[in-house]
Amino acid sequence: MRKKAFKAESKRLLELMINSIYTHKEIFLRELISNASDAIDKLYYHSLKDGISGLAREQFEINIDIDSQARTLTISDNGIGMTAEELENNLGTIAKSGSLSFKNDADHSDEAAEDIDIIGQFGVGFYSAFMVADHIEVTSRAFGSDTANLWKSDGVDGYTIEPCDMDGHGTIIKLSIKPDSEEEDYGRFLEQYTIESLVRKYSDYIRYPIKMERTKTRAKADNEEEIEEYTEVDTLNSMVPIWKRSKSELTEEDYNNFYKEKFFDFTDPLRSIHIATEGTATFNALLYIPSKAPYNYYTRDYEKGLKLYANGVLIMDMCKDLIPDCFSFVKGLVDSQDLSLNISRELLQHDRQLKLIATSLEKKIKAELKKMLENDRENYEKVFANFGLQFKYGIYSSYGRDKELLSDLLLFRSSNSDGMTTFAEYCERMRENQKYIYYACGESAERIARMPQIERLLSKGYEVLYLTDDIDEFTFRVLNEWDGKEFRSASGDDLGIEDDDTASTEQLEKDNAEMLSFIKDSLGDKVAKVRPSNRLMSCPVCITADGMVSLEMERVLNAAPGDQKVKAERVLEINASHPIFEKLSALYENDQAKLSKYAKLLYNQALLIEDLPLDDPLEFASSICDLMV
Ligand code: ADP
Repeated sequence: MRKKAFKAESKRLLELMINSIYTHKEIFLRELISNASDAIDKLYYHSLKDGISGLAREQFEINIDIDSQARTLTISDNGIGMTAEELENNLGTIAKSGSLSFKNDADHSDEAAEDIDIIGQFGVGFYSAFMVADHIEVTSRAFGSDTANLWKSDGVDGYTIEPCDMDGHGTIIKLSIKPDSEEEDYGRFLEQYTIESLVRKYSDYIRYPIKMERTKTRAKADNEEEIEEYTEVDTLNSMVPIWKRSKSELTEEDYNNFYKEKFFDFTDPLRSIHIATEGTATFNALLYIPSKAPYNYYTRDYEKGLKLYANGVLIMDMCKDLIPDCFSFVKGLVDSQDLSLNISRELLQHDRQLKLIATSLEKKIKAELKKMLENDRENYEKVFANFGLQFKYGIYSSYGRDKELLSDLLLFRSSNSDGMTTFAEYCERMRENQKYIYYACGESAERIARMPQIERLLSKGYEVLYLTDDIDEFTFRVLNEWDGKEFRSASGDDLGIEDDDTASTEQLEKDNAEMLSFIKDSLGDKVAKVRPSNRLMSCPVCITADGMVSLEMERVLNAAPGDQKVKAERVLEINASHPIFEKLSALYENDQAKLSKYAKLLYNQALLIEDLPLDDPLEFASSICDLMV
């Protein structure tokens, strides 16, 4: 029989596995048990839905058998089983959409820590068995099929599949445990005690009995002095799903282990939320906030959703409708007795019960995040660093409908300190005479801190929020205000400051109207307006924008694909208290040709300060040179 090679990605993955970058080799057992339980779930669900008779829930079980002589560990189930084709597809390759990106990521395989996550993210459960076994035989018979097949493999070299005999349906996985080596005591996986405790640690909640024959001792009946050995088949797991147990019985470790097992993550979640409610919607839920955004979180490939159980039976693996987009990073499951097992995907979408659950979950998640923000700021900031962008998108893409839900979860850097601030905290610090919430946009907080546009605001003691994400200003436009306080851009047309300085700038504008309009004409359509500035302190010029489109929005929108380009109404502002202003006035009287040149120089300087590209760098350079010579 010809041996088949594993598909390319599988082979690399296997190599990674076998070379044990992953230190917790013991997880192979939970992976196999989990697969067995899924296989039974599938058959059980199928039987309930299609009314197959002769399959009773009590019959389903998972068996573990240890043969320490032969050094084999066997895990079997009477679930749905696999056909030859399924064996080939499921065990011969990693049939996951992520396999390609895995390959890319795996090119940096020196970063062991990264690899761990990769393996976790793709749920390569079955393969993990090669960490402890040097030979694996899988015998399987699909429910309803009269043929069984045997899949064999020694690891990376490939595998074979051949027909074989088997009673009943299901899958038997026989692992030949590796010989012990100096680094690793593989023999422990052949000890009852180890297996028992691993089952209890990782698979206790599995809803079907995990049975194992155990050797025990007792006093002999005829002679109490003597001890005899006997065997008994025991169920190792308690079978109560963790989400049905009471919170007081559970430790953080229980929640974390369950999360890592179910949701293919190798790091503990930042937060677990256990919900049991009765009322309009009766359900149990277990939600998790992951500690890191999945590698594809901000791409189209990312799929949100919660596992949905109807009275303990999994009916959907990724139920999208349970979770709003703004909280799409939340993982978890919902179990409700109010849902019908037979419900189809289409019907589910319109299910009233499901909507009630979704609404309730949204509230709970929000409340939990708020609680974190208030009492566990450090962790909340981690959540925000990973997923905060999603809150901002949420406000923007709902046209503000979700602003109640999300705006108090936002955090920004600001001129106040190095830390992050909420809108509420900003408002608490507002000056007595301050009417607006000020913000400025730029590439980084460090860069914004040096923007000339914010100088005057800062000198008046007004705090400025530093917006560094592309989406930020769009979100601000949608929000418009917070708690009755309007947002104002440091680069917008009106800072909304009314004082003597502002009044005198207005006067200056009137007094120098001709000079300013001469400069504007020299610049042609590069700017819509030239005016004296009421926001600059030390810098001679800056560029701002009048109207709806800011410079930042122009940049973001024009970077997006498509040929509809927008243009901000640029304004060149000249610092009236800077000596340059007098110089310009003098030139207007004596040397307009020179003034025209200076206008262009100043405009280009303003572009440079703003980090905007110069229209003609060469011309700028030679004008400076002219001046120098
Ligand atoms: P995952 O469990 O993440 O899908 P695995 O590599 O563990 O990845 O398993 C691949 C597939 O093989 C499973 O999705 C399932 O279809 C099939 N499979 C594995 N174990 C069993 C089993 N005991 N019974 C039936 N099918 C199984």
